[in-house]
Amino acid sequence: MSITIKTTREIDLMRQSGKLLAKVHDELGQFIRPGISTKDIDELGEKLIRGYGGIPNFLHYNGFPASICVSVNEEVVHGIPTKERILKEGDIVSLDAGLIYKGYHSDAARTYGVGKISAECQKLIDETKNSFFAGIKAAKDGGRLYDISNAIASYIDTFGYGIVRDLVGHGIGTALHEDPQIPNYHVDKKGPRLQVGMTLAVEPMINMGRADVKWLDDDWTVVAADGLPSAHYENTILITDGEPEILTLPD
Ligand code: MG
Repeated sequence: MSITIKTTREIDLMRQSGKLLAKVHDELGQFIRPGISTKDIDELGEKLIRGYGGIPNFLHYNGFPASICVSVNEEVVHGIPTKERILKEGDIVSLDAGLIYKGYHSDAARTYGVGKISAECQKLIDETKNSFFAGIKAAKDGGRLYDISNAIASYIDTFGYGIVRDLVGHGIGTALHEDPQIPNYHVDKKGPRLQVGMTLAVEPMINMGRADVKWLDDDWTVVAADGLPSAHYENTILITDGEPEILTLPD
């Protein structure tokens, strides 16, 4: 499969999809507090997505049983929400959410502190987010895909964190996962040339400790193998003839 170039009409729909997802994330972020279950987050997320006229694209994706991936502490991504998992003060929680609007997907992730968190966890959250913005400085028409990867990795290297290698960003459009794959680690190649009209989900997943991950017995939840906390930050972006447009942030 080659990398799709979206038409003006498609870009407009991707923009609409992204703006709705930005609102969902904003409301979910305000909901995070000690004492709620990860299932409470999923239920609110699904309600918000459907309320905005969207369809939750993670629900039933390859059998995933929920609309929002809720990953706590050492869980990197794809945490399955349950009524039993209650957030407590000092936890960090990553919410990965996406929706389909008029046939077009959006995908974004945020990590939040639950109540008061340690300075180390706050730094991990902040620098994971900052690495996304460092990466997308290279997301330019005529640039190369792995310039994004290398910019993220170079930024993160200065902190000694572990960059997850088993999961990567991706193209997005009429499918949740399109070509290309977008690593967050160093790649000693240039990669495909970026062009106006490409839409990409850039999503660094950063571990406080080592990069190694493992899968839990539920076959979904990815955790840091050393048990240390992990953070995730993702937006769907559009390559333009200038700065990349971030489709999943509020206006
Ligand atoms: Mg994604």
